[in-house]
Formats: sequence, C-alpha cells, structure tokens
Amino acid sequence: MEITITRTTTPKQKPSMDGIPFGTYFSDHMFLMNYTEGTGWHDARIVPYGPISLEPTTMVFHYAQEIFEGMKAYRTAEGKVQLFRPTENIARMNRSAEKLCIPHIPEDVYLDALKTLITVDQDWVPSEPDTSLYIRPFVFATDAHLGVHVAHTYLFCIVTCPVGCYYPEGLNPVKIAIESREVRAVRGGTGFTKCGGNYAASLHAGALAEAQGFSQVLWLDGVEQKYIEEVGSMNVMFKIAGKVVTPSLAKGTVLPGITRKSVIEVLKHFGYEVEERDISVDELIAAAEAGTLEEAWGTGTAAVISPIGKISYQGKEHIVNNFEIGELTQRLYDTVTGIQWGKLDDPFGWVMPVC
Ligand SMILES: *Cc1c(COP(=O)(O)O)cnc(C)c1O
Repeated sequence: MEITITRTTTPKQKPSMDGIPFGTYFSDHMFLMNYTEGTGWHDARIVPYGPISLEPTTMVFHYAQEIFEGMKAYRTAEGKVQLFRPTENIARMNRSAEKLCIPHIPEDVYLDALKTLITVDQDWVPSEPDTSLYIRPFVFATDAHLGVHVAHTYLFCIVTCPVGCYYPEGLNPVKIAIESREVRAVRGGTGFTKCGGNYAASLHAGALAEAQGFSQVLWLDGVEQKYIEEVGSMNVMFKIAGKVVTPSLAKGTVLPGITRKSVIEVLKHFGYEVEERDISVDELIAAAEAGTLEEAWGTGTAAVISPIGKISYQGKEHIVNNFEIGELTQRLYDTVTGIQWGKLDDPFGWVMPVC
C-alpha cells in the first residue's frame, strides 16, 4: 500500500531532553489510515501532527473499542536509528485486535508505516544518553452511532514523542502496594490485550495507592486474589533463592510483555533458571520474611527494568535488597538497554535498522 506524505510547513522547535517529562512533546508528523467495512484499510498517509475531528457519538467514546501499542526507536552511537523487536508489537496488536473485534492490520503495511514515519521524523530521535523516541500506535472505532455493536469503520494512528528516563529519579527502586480488593483482569476477559479499557479499570486502585506514597499497584488474580499477576503497566519478576520466577501467561490475564519475553531469553542466556508459573502472594511474603526474596523488578518498554525496593501487603511493608538495585536487576538493565541502543552485540537478532 502506498503511503502519501504531506510534510509540515511549520516544524516545531525540539524540546530540551534534560528532564523531559514522558509523553508530553510530540513530533512533527503522524501516520493515519482508515478502515471501512467492505473496502478494508485505505488512505495510508503521513500528515502534520494535529487534532482529529470526531463527532460526539463516535463509538470509541462510549464503548471503548480501542487498542494500542508502545515501542521505541533508538539512536545508535553511529547516528543510525533502530527499532527493538517491532514485529512482536505488530503481532501483539493483532492479537489485541482479534479480541476487541477490530480488523487485522496487515503486518507489512504496519511495519512500512512505522519505518516511514520514523524516517520522516528522524530528527526527532534524540541522541542524549538514555533517550529514545517513544512510538504509540493505536486503533479505535470511528462510527458516529449509539448502540452497542462492532463498529464498521476505524482509524489507525501512530504518534511519536522523544522521551528520557520513564522515572525522573532514574533507575531507583520503586515502592509498590499489593492490591487485595480491586482487580485488573479476569479469566476470559481482556487482560492479555493492550486496550485502554484495562487502564481505565485500573485507575481507581492506582490513585489510592499513589495517595499512600506507592508508585504502582501489584495486581493479584481476579478469581481468588491469591496469585501475583503484574505491576501497574509492567510485568513482574522475582529472584527467590537464586532462581527467577515470574507469573505465567497461561490464564490470559497477564499482558504478554515484549520486555518480559526478552528478559527471560537474556536470563536463560546468562544460565539462570526461569520459572513461569503461579506465584501466590503467600509464597512471596514468606520468601520476603525468610530473606530468600533477593531481588524484584518490573519490566516494560517505558522503564525497561524497574527495581522494586518495597512491597506493602495488608499494612505490612517488606524491604527488598535494602531498597537498592540488585546486581541481577542492574545486569539485565545494562544488557537489554545495551542491545537497544546498539552498544552491545545483539546475539538474539532483536534490533531492526530503520535509517
Ligand atoms: C505494555 C504493558 C506491559 C509491558 O509490555 P512491554 O511489551 O514489555 O512494553 C505490561 N503490562 C501491561 C498492563 C502493559 O500494558
């Protein structure tokens, strides 16, 4: 499919990367493509970034038929731009699409859209240490119609924004609270998809935890509230007595993170044993109390690896690794980000050059 390009005549001034807030300054262009039942995807175009005009009855506002992705483009020391496992994001978005009854996006069109947009806005890929261009593809129902049914028209949009470290404090341990009343996902639901609705449902518990000084909620399963699922917008891993354990994806309630998948492969490459299985909150707290919970961290594109320094459960606080970043956590961060920025060899074949 041909992508038409309309360049801006008023390029914006680039923001300073020093302490830049996440997701606030957007690049000059965006990608748009429409879907109409009977015609399929059409009108792939890159246009100046700007508002989209929609009727108040646009279905996504009422019934939340929407999915998104999150990925990054990295500037290497040689000045080139590369992506990290983009075909994983494309495949995941199409799995989300299937669950939300959103039409499949052809993989080649999607990848071409990403590469073309990044090439047009390549000056927006920052080169300062720890910076990257965050990429947000999303699709939503655009029919102007009230009444619950699967929409007939959609818009696929990709916007990008230069970002620094996700946490302004840098790679410092975060405090998390285990949530034992509210749940994020249930079996048979949308937990495995990246849809806005999952986040809407998580805001209330997140806001309460934040008011108590925690940066994220650690979710338990939606049936028994007994098993660990994930933390905020990250997957979670624990090093217990030398082994790494992480919740399994089998129930479809945990988001299949690409950072999670990559970290598991790196750990196995390092020679660690990794168990993907159910971990009960009781097992976790018992390990914390016995001193065998050696390290804990979250994984996700935005923060990459985020050390967990404190876990609160039923009013009791458990400190992990003296509230310091663990040795393995640091090694994983250095390895994954080293591959992403092209500072380390990529024995896994994960990076894809763009321009
Ligand atoms: C995106 C996301 C993650 C992390 O996935 P990555 O592919 O590693 O960025 C984890 N949990 C939730 C709920 C997410 O939305």
